Amino acid sequence: MKTFRNFIAGAWTEPSTGEYFDNVNPADTTDVVGRFPLSGTEDVDRAVASARRGFERWRRTPAPARGDVLRRVGDLMTQRKEEIAELMTREMGKPLTETRGDVQEGIDTAYYAATEGRRLFGHTVPSEMPSKWAMSFRRPIGVCGIITPFNFPLAIPTWKMFPALLCGNACVFKPAEDVPHTGTVLVEILLEAGLPPEVIQLVHGVGETVGKAIVEHPDVPAISFTGSTETGRFVGETCGRMHKRLSLEMGGKNAQIVLDDADLDLALEGVIWGAFGTTGQRCTATSRLILQRGIHDNFLGLLVDRARAMKLGDGRKAGTDVGPLISEAARRKVEHYIDVGQAEGGDLLCGGRRGQGRGLERGHFFEPTIFARVSAGARIEQEEIFGPVLSVVRVSTPEEAFAVNNGVKYGLSSSLYTRDVNLAFRALQELDNGITYVNAPTIGAEAHLPFGGVKQTGNGHREGGWEVYEFYSETKVGYVDYSGTLQRAQIDNYLGTPD
Ligand code: NAD
Repeated sequence: MKTFRNFIAGAWTEPSTGEYFDNVNPADTTDVVGRFPLSGTEDVDRAVASARRGFERWRRTPAPARGDVLRRVGDLMTQRKEEIAELMTREMGKPLTETRGDVQEGIDTAYYAATEGRRLFGHTVPSEMPSKWAMSFRRPIGVCGIITPFNFPLAIPTWKMFPALLCGNACVFKPAEDVPHTGTVLVEILLEAGLPPEVIQLVHGVGETVGKAIVEHPDVPAISFTGSTETGRFVGETCGRMHKRLSLEMGGKNAQIVLDDADLDLALEGVIWGAFGTTGQRCTATSRLILQRGIHDNFLGLLVDRARAMKLGDGRKAGTDVGPLISEAARRKVEHYIDVGQAEGGDLLCGGRRGQGRGLERGHFFEPTIFARVSAGARIEQEEIFGPVLSVVRVSTPEEAFAVNNGVKYGLSSSLYTRDVNLAFRALQELDNGITYVNAPTIGAEAHLPFGGVKQTGNGHREGGWEVYEFYSETKVGYVDYSGTLQRAQIDNYLGTPD
């Protein structure tokens, strides 16, 4: 079995602890992908010290040249797309069609970042005074701590690291402990593309040790975290106390609304993909379905038939619709919510149990599950389960549907199926989410648009698109007075005095 290493101070190194953990295929727990470092705080200290040196060099590299490195990263990922998709499916379970999409998102993010190297716009504005120039421009921040979840092992690290690097920062990267192999390959590609070695540091290990040490390190002024709202709260408390710049992307409880006038075939495709893609382990997964009274019974019947027909299995095998959950702990959490849903009086229409037969017992499989007659406010309608569990709520009017959508603490994504253009535009205004899709599922963000959520999903920042470059750079303002005299802002008057 292969033993992997950290990448610290320009070299592939063993962890200071001398300890390792096994990375296991969730579709077959007898298949061990490799051994990865169980690093300690000493490794983080070395990584940060090296990243500070890397930053001093990289921040002076012209932004278009930094962009060229990221273009080569995009080229290398394109060449290795199939291989990366395969190894990603092996370590986290989602089917190859999805892991290919995950890699493609990284490629798109690389090419977007490459071109941003020739923009990174500031402003020039008129000064109040003659012979004075006023402008703003962008400067990098320093060492950025990058902490990522398991469900998008490549795309999410690229959303963070590529704009951070393009802006001239150095990164200390801690991938989720369930997906260290994909994180390692990404760092290999960055180095092969020509990134100076000390600009990137890779430290494997558990969040409570390595992640925490990065967040608490005084020489890491910016943290970008994607993960659960619970972990994000700890991260946020520390960053608040230490006055750090912080981007949080956290949990979701996303709803698809289907109104009486909707194209039901289209809505059906949407909810099957939104609820059970990635085995429900997406921050944007459809975990609630809000059906208007007129189509409720008919739609539910069609949906249950489709969910029952979905094929569980190894994501690398053709014909697999649904892969495993990431871990046994994740499956136990889902099972706990099955008990909660039944105790709350939800009507369990399908699923609710582990995958069985055809070798499924070797992995963390769980059947697509649908609860009907769920009340707005029930725990399974409110709390993030992060598995293939869909709660269906019946409503009478579009207004009621909007209120149910908004009645949760999260606010990432929502979806509305209707043919009424007026309602569609009203929904864009009324639904409390960072993203609303009309006649499309709750999942499917594109790399060149801002991505993120409101309420307890985020803290106001966005990933993706143009906005993320503001997170990874500071605005600096420069005034150049070439009048040769003292000109006092707000005091001297250049309008000319009336006679
Ligand atoms: P998680 O919170 O368990 O872990 C996320 C990362 O944080 C991991 O790398 C982990 O090692 C690290 N971590 C754990 N404890 C830490 C600590 N005390 N200090 C610093 N880092 C620590 O999340 P997960 O199970 O990997 O991912 C699932 C969650 O992520 C879900 O809640 C999902 O909604 C969310 N998510 C959100 C988005 C989004 O963009 N909003 C995208 C993907 C996933």
